[in-house]
Amino acid sequence: MNQGRGSVAIVGAGVGGLACARVLGEAGWRVSVFDKSRGLGGRCSTRRASVDGLTLRFDHGAQYFTARTPAFQAVVEAGLEAGSLARWRPRLIAVEGTLAAGRSAVEDETPRYVGVPGMSALGKLLAARAGVDEARVHRKRRIQALERGVQGWTLVDEAGERSEGFEAVLLNLPSAQATPLLEAHAPALAERSRACTFEPCWAGMLRPEDPALDLGFDAAFVSGGAFSWVADGGSKPGRSGGAAWVLHADPDWTRAHLEEPAEAVARELHARFEALVGRSIPAAHRSAHRWRFAKPEGIPEPHLLDADLGLGVCGDWCGGPRVEGAFTSGRSLAQAWLAARTA
Ligand SMILES: Cc1cc2nc3c(=O)[nH]c(=O)nc-3n(C[C@H](O)[C@H](O)[C@H](O)COP(=O)(O)OP(=O)(O)OC[C@H]3O[C@@H](n4cnc5c(N)ncnc54)[C@H](O)[C@@H]3O)c2cc1C
Repeated sequence: MNQGRGSVAIVGAGVGGLACARVLGEAGWRVSVFDKSRGLGGRCSTRRASVDGLTLRFDHGAQYFTARTPAFQAVVEAGLEAGSLARWRPRLIAVEGTLAAGRSAVEDETPRYVGVPGMSALGKLLAARAGVDEARVHRKRRIQALERGVQGWTLVDEAGERSEGFEAVLLNLPSAQATPLLEAHAPALAERSRACTFEPCWAGMLRPEDPALDLGFDAAFVSGGAFSWVADGGSKPGRSGGAAWVLHADPDWTRAHLEEPAEAVARELHARFEALVGRSIPAAHRSAHRWRFAKPEGIPEPHLLDADLGLGVCGDWCGGPRVEGAFTSGRSLAQAWLAARTA
């Protein structure tokens, strides 16, 4: 595959990469997107589980997003109109230690939005708005090396497959995954990328035997224990099938259990959740997913770019540790690349 002039490869189809793709596509560039996964949207994703003949959806990464900038508000407006996004109004509380020890209502009017029927709807919406169709999305391609020659950039994936001739390569990867790709070509960018660290997060997923289980709250910010956040995905709009709890372990607990098998972690998080709410909750399903790179301690730059090389990076560790931060960073990188090419 030789792309020729005017073509850009984006590695990583997270919110940042898809936002970047839209700006470049609108400016007339041919954009190809590569991702190691099957789905789009990266950490803004949904895990399916089949339980008693029902397909349940767990938003095991990002729980919701806020929209404070006009560009992202425009995306949210479009999604609300199309029905692929909706406003979530959870019964939200803050818990200190256990429910019995201390709980308080979170009175916060900030609109919180979710994808419908799962958070992965945001990635699909962004891809559609970017005009990134199947021909331009290369799924299950983990890019392992970048090469630069007279014909431009070549991407090499873990199976050895090559995609050639890009004028620029723009990475949308957590810093630890971006650094090895930057090192050989742009040591200065690699240095800045290496300065960023990520906290990990074990995400437990729990389907109670009683799908109508109501614990008296839908979501909680938790402190002083194993969790940072717990939420019933069944309380989000556009879900069917009842209770589907997501249990986010806090960074310290996650680090202490990082290399344990997912099954053992799911069992432990289930037990901790029962202790948190002070009652037994028999499970119809429980599982766990480890996010090695969940939340960044980012750098104060909206993106990184070496315009002469045609190599750049975006993501939430540049734009701010949330969905909208990734979106803003992706746009910022694309705009900087376009400005450099017309200067
Ligand atoms: C547990 C958890 C809870 C969160 N809760 C919230 C929340 O409530 N609200 C909020 O706003 N944000 C939340 N976030 C943060 C939010 O999900 C991220 O800020 C945002 O999704 C990051 O987007 P991104 O585009 O920067 O990167 P990512 O979403 O990480 O995208 C990177 C992409 O690169 C791909 N990739 C990686 N390596 C390679 C490779 N070598 N080759 C090809 N592809 C590769 C990955 O598959 C992925 O699709 C949460 C995150 C986690 C993990």
